[in-house]
Amino acid sequence: MSLIQFEKVNTGEVTFRKIDFMKLTSLHIVRILNAPSYTAVLHWLNRIPVKCLGDGCPICVQNKSIIADNPETFRKVSTYSRKAQTFYMNVLDRTPAKVCPNCNHENTAIGNRFSAACGECNSLITDVKPTPVNKVKVLSRGVTFGEDLNGIHNSNLADDGSIIGIHNYDVQIIVGSNKRPFPQELLNNNDKIEIDESELFDLESAPIVLEPDEMLDLQRGVSLKDIFAARSVSDTEDFGPALNGGTLEGETTAKIEENVLNLLG
Ligand SMILES: [Zn+2]
Ligand SMILES: [Zn+2]
Repeated sequence: MSLIQFEKVNTGEVTFRKIDFMKLTSLHIVRILNAPSYTAVLHWLNRIPVKCLGDGCPICVQNKSIIADNPETFRKVSTYSRKAQTFYMNVLDRTPAKVCPNCNHENTAIGNRFSAACGECNSLITDVKPTPVNKVKVLSRGVTFGEDLNGIHNSNLADDGSIIGIHNYDVQIIVGSNKRPFPQELLNNNDKIEIDESELFDLESAPIVLEPDEMLDLQRGVSLKDIFAARSVSDTEDFGPALNGGTLEGETTAKIEENVLNLLG
């Protein structure tokens, strides 16, 4: 036995895989995978969702004093940040898409039509055949959408009256003109799907987690990129979850911000 026993340090390099969030823009088809979902309580700070720290959360402490000072109008105070529940679940994205040969961007149809040019790099994609994306992604939304999914799960019954289960058929998600995504069951798309557990994302690492002072920085307008850059490089191994498995490269933090903004619809 060695004199000094070191604990194995998780560097975050292997365990955390950058989360591929489902971006709901038009019409999508997903299969909700039969794996536990995860719900987090978030604050929206400067339009970015950040996990509430619970006990000792500076935003909750701040909220309390805002409510005490403005019992009628606290919601109108700009620094008031209510808590919102958000769920995360692993889904198989089956949306037909034209994958751009130039930049790999998944171009989905707008209405029933695919545009002639890639939405990302503008290359012509008229000759590209649409195929299902077929990738595991993380679907994340709030309470209303979650209740819609629960409704679909509970209301579709087999002949014997038992619940078929939402994992056994596809769900179509249509983003309406009001930007609200609306899920609908596709009961006839009920092929059996096998996904290896290693393809699932670690949902607990999906929400962005910041230190208390960083939450306040973000709220007063400091960008996520600058917050991550301010952390000393020697501490990087602690940030795996917050960065969704990325590295501290500027490009990655920019991507996180982009992902986060996409989540906002
Ligand atoms: Zn909080
Ligand atoms: Zn492209």
